[in-house]
Amino acid sequence: MKIAVVGCGYVGLVSGACFASLGNQVICVDIDEKKIASLKKGISPIYEPGLEELIRQNIRKGLISFTADLRTAARKSDVIFIAVGTPPRANGEADLSFVENVVRTIAKELDGYKLIVEKSTVPVQTGEHIARVLKASAKKGASFDVASNPEFLREGTAVRDFMNPDRVILGVASKKAEKILTDLYRPLKAPILITDLKSAEIIKHASNSYLAMKISFINAISIVCEAAGANVDQVATGMGLDKRIGKNFLNPGIGFGGFCFPKDLAAFIRISEKLGYDFGLLKAVEEINENQKKFFVKKIEEAVWNINSKTIGVLGLSFKPDTDDMRFAPSIDIIAMLQAQGARIKAFDPHAMKKAKESLKDIEYCKDSYSVCRGSDCLLILTEWDEFKEIDLAKVKKLLKQPIVIDGRNVYDPGRMKELGFQYHSIGRP
Ligand code: NAD
Repeated sequence: MKIAVVGCGYVGLVSGACFASLGNQVICVDIDEKKIASLKKGISPIYEPGLEELIRQNIRKGLISFTADLRTAARKSDVIFIAVGTPPRANGEADLSFVENVVRTIAKELDGYKLIVEKSTVPVQTGEHIARVLKASAKKGASFDVASNPEFLREGTAVRDFMNPDRVILGVASKKAEKILTDLYRPLKAPILITDLKSAEIIKHASNSYLAMKISFINAISIVCEAAGANVDQVATGMGLDKRIGKNFLNPGIGFGGFCFPKDLAAFIRISEKLGYDFGLLKAVEEINENQKKFFVKKIEEAVWNINSKTIGVLGLSFKPDTDDMRFAPSIDIIAMLQAQGARIKAFDPHAMKKAKESLKDIEYCKDSYSVCRGSDCLLILTEWDEFKEIDLAKVKKLLKQPIVIDGRNVYDPGRMKELGFQYHSIGRP
């Protein structure tokens, strides 16, 4: 198939590279000329395991190309995936202006039949808006379908997730669109669910909100455990063994972040409100998430006494391991709260420091974990990168000014930390 993927971000690039690997002819489009220039050389602008190799392989096979010229790409393609950002507005609503810009450009190029597919996460009824714009400016003889194919990949394992999805959701309005998309996804051998367009749009928001709810739920449980002297890890294991609950997404921590959960939750709350429903449950999920970061800062305060003029070492900045994505990372809010109280911050992250420098200022960025520890009054774990799990703790203890570790990801065993002589604080464990 001849496919255009608009937006060369985490979703667009991974989708484009994977569609090319399945033998399709893919044109990836982005307005960011710098990204396009680097992609043409086979250099990925984002860190995502396996992605760069896949891009290079498909460049060599002639199956993938990159351009900033959306009009030509649209003209040359039969299926156009929209994978641009849908960031939150100040009121939480999804900003759909990037999607609209793309649709208005495509509308001018409609000729014959084209299938326009929403891959970006958008609020329900966006498909109707897209169809209206396309219809208003389609030339005579042109026809089109709009479909929704929400993406469920996770950063850090995006290529694997794309190629092995739990399910593929296809929200379609015609048999023709259903056939094209079913043919495209058939090689993945994943369950395919055909729905109407609006239901597909809601499936994405509902899924992310549900997962965010699970995280906030276990975070709330961690507070109760801590107050009662119970162990949240044991509670989560006990809950997760129940097949109706499942063990995934029951890891307590410093709250969820990233470009999906916070914004999708906010957008789902707003669209529900517009449709006349006050989604109080999801508002509580948001509130618990915000409070979790404040609880963590309070923990630091209790451990070091006065935060003012202390040097605080931070391991991990990205919102989760195996990605360089800093968007809405909890580290940003936690560090801001510490700096507001006069702390000096030293930090290290294996892959996110370049991006962190754009949002986190006045930080001493270190070359490795041990440099962070040297002379710090305490050490925080904010992202559970594997290399932090394997760190030489005896060396860490020697380098720290005080042997205090406050672990926001429950990476270490409390018994072992005690044996090693640390004052160790984690989430919801005695
Ligand atoms: P991103 O910010 O990494 O990438 C978006 C890209 O779109 C950018 O490179 C930007 O330059 C480009 N762009 C913006 N306007 C454009 C235009 N008019 N023409 C061409 N390119 C344009 O975003 P992302 O993380 O890939 O997310 C994209 C969408 O997918 C969002 O709706 C997001 O919610 C959704 N999503 C993201 C993830 C994830 O893990 N990141 C997972 C599932 C779904």
